[in-house]
Amino acid sequence: MHEASLILGMFDTIESDYQDYEIEKVTRIELEIGRLSNAEPLILKQSFEVLKAGTVFEGALFDIINVATEVRCLVCNSIYYPEDFPFMCSNCESLRSEILKGDQILLTKLEMEVK
Ligand SMILES: [Zn+2]
Repeated sequence: MHEASLILGMFDTIESDYQDYEIEKVTRIELEIGRLSNAEPLILKQSFEVLKAGTVFEGALFDIINVATEVRCLVCNSIYYPEDFPFMCSNCESLRSEILKGDQILLTKLEMEVK
């Protein structure tokens, strides 16, 4: 499952980034999830609940911030927030666009106690 491997990848990244510290426990994690990232927040939460058992992440609060899709029109430079594909500029109806936000999966907060 895509979401489960995302959670495991996040655990691995945190543990390797902080391997010089001895993590006692992680107390809080916040993730920014773009709508275009194909990660389903509810499934991410469920995966986290299952996978955290017996790890330093067991007692952590896990917050997910949903980020709307933000697009810039390449014709008229308008910024707009499409709900779905195809992206069409609300100003000039062009389909040529650049994604500014919405495809990210970012770890935006991390709190932990170290030994
Ligand atoms: Zn436009």
